[in-house]
Amino acid sequence: MNIRIGQGIDFHRLETGLDLWLGGVKIPSEKGCIAHSDGDVLLHALCDAMLGASGLRDIGFHFPDTDKKYKNIDSKILLKNTFDLIRQKGFRVINIDCTICLEKPKISTFIEDMKKAISAIVETEPDNVAVKATTTEKLGFTGREEGVVALAVVLLSK
Ligand SMILES: [Zn+2]
Repeated sequence: MNIRIGQGIDFHRLETGLDLWLGGVKIPSEKGCIAHSDGDVLLHALCDAMLGASGLRDIGFHFPDTDKKYKNIDSKILLKNTFDLIRQKGFRVINIDCTICLEKPKISTFIEDMKKAISAIVETEPDNVAVKATTTEKLGFTGREEGVVALAVVLLSK
């Protein structure tokens, strides 16, 4: 069996009055991500991990933020398009492990919904998708609530 690992990371600035989308789920929050798309930092990191694992460049290459077609796009569509690309190369998802780093709001009650949303798109079981949350203990840009970071690792098989 051909097994491939991939990692992805994404950052977005936060601004008051914008929607906050994480892992395909809208989270009640004072601040949301500034982005060309809906700013779902977790799904963007996951797309990059999947593209990396299958040797297919990165999210900016496939879905450029200069293209009007992707303005305010639901990042679940970007994940679906990414999944279609890796499937065309014969890959399927073994498991996904993600971490979101932000100061607030607390997102633990939304983790199960994120696992369901992601697993449905990449055609695996929710148990194969882990989403973890942490803070930087008020240090740095995430600690000052200026931004959010997400990291994702994926294992694919062919
Ligand atoms: Zn992004």
